Amino acid sequence: NRYVVITEHVDGPPEERHFKIKSETLSLELESGSKDIIVKNLYVSIDPYQINRMKSYTSSQSAMNVAGPLNSGEAIAANGVAKVVVSGNPEFQKDDLVSGSVTWGEYSVIKPGGSIRKLDLLGFPLSYHVGPLASSGLTAYGGFFKVCKPKRGEKVFVSAASGSVGHLVGQYAKLLDCYVVGCAGTDEKVALLKKLGFDDAFNYKQETDMKATLKRYFPEGIDVYFDNVGAEMLEAALSNMNVFGRVAVCGVISEYTDRNRRAVPDMIDVVYKRITIQGFIYLDFTDIYADFFSTTCDHLRSGKIKPLEDISDGVESIPAAFVGLFHGRNTGKKMVKIAED
Ligand code: NDP
Repeated sequence: NRYVVITEHVDGPPEERHFKIKSETLSLELESGSKDIIVKNLYVSIDPYQINRMKSYTSSQSAMNVAGPLNSGEAIAANGVAKVVVSGNPEFQKDDLVSGSVTWGEYSVIKPGGSIRKLDLLGFPLSYHVGPLASSGLTAYGGFFKVCKPKRGEKVFVSAASGSVGHLVGQYAKLLDCYVVGCAGTDEKVALLKKLGFDDAFNYKQETDMKATLKRYFPEGIDVYFDNVGAEMLEAALSNMNVFGRVAVCGVISEYTDRNRRAVPDMIDVVYKRITIQGFIYLDFTDIYADFFSTTCDHLRSGKIKPLEDISDGVESIPAAFVGLFHGRNTGKKMVKIAED
């Protein structure tokens, strides 16, 4: 079994040298009485939050409290889809397709209590069950509808808009007839967002004064900001929010690799405009999961939501795929295909 490990803690931007591929013999037979499940991974998800587990934090930091710190040499948990090779759990049989928490590697050993469930493809490609029908989709759906509490026709700004979560948020917002503007880091991504139906989009790397930029795109102000980025983008959005505006803080990727980068919002804006700023984690949305899933399946079938995918091949490509997230090298959901079904 070949799998990815970190060679040391990652306290700045990740580089490929922080990772290596470990090779280990894995017996595909279980010891008698074992309730483990061994799965062969097919697709694994590559997610920005994983950097927060790779840092040499003290255990009191909140990012650690959710996912737990990672030690060098340890297999790295990730969402994915996989096929059961051998199972000591009577609920799973050999060749069952499953989705849930696996690891960045060829095989994963799922211990009792591990988070996997049987997967019914429902006619969709496997990759959709890593992207729009999995945590990225639930994050976008729950973050937008439950946290942003949008009303029809409102003005919505999405950052990292061509990414896994962002491009779905924009499309959900368009289905509610909102006016949607996204930002992304290249002109090609900007063009793609407009093709997906965003009303407008801009390349934030070409802009020098983000507050003025947002004023240009939202002369009547922003009602909802879906923040994937943090720092000055959040400051600029706050200063352009309308009264009773809502900010969903989904993630702050621009801060993950630099401890000194922080949003310094003008809190007087927050007070006088009565702005709600709420962080969330997609695991908060179990109560709307069924609604998310059936609605999103319908929209995917009708073509009202078009998923963007960015797929690399093979375990060896995982480090570069992960590093690339922090340089905007992905467009849409980044994942790695490990094996054919
Ligand atoms: P993406 O697919 O959006 O990939 C990351 C993108 O972020 C890159 O492609 C890049 O696009 C952009 N980016 C990278 N560095 C910077 C920077 N310094 N400043 C601005 N943009 C940057 O990832 P996801 O959709 O998976 O995640 C998006 C955000 O949502 C992340 O912050 C993530 O942690 C968070 N998240 C939160 C969840 C939750 O439950 N709260 C669940 C899932 C994700 P560009 O070309 O535009 O720069």
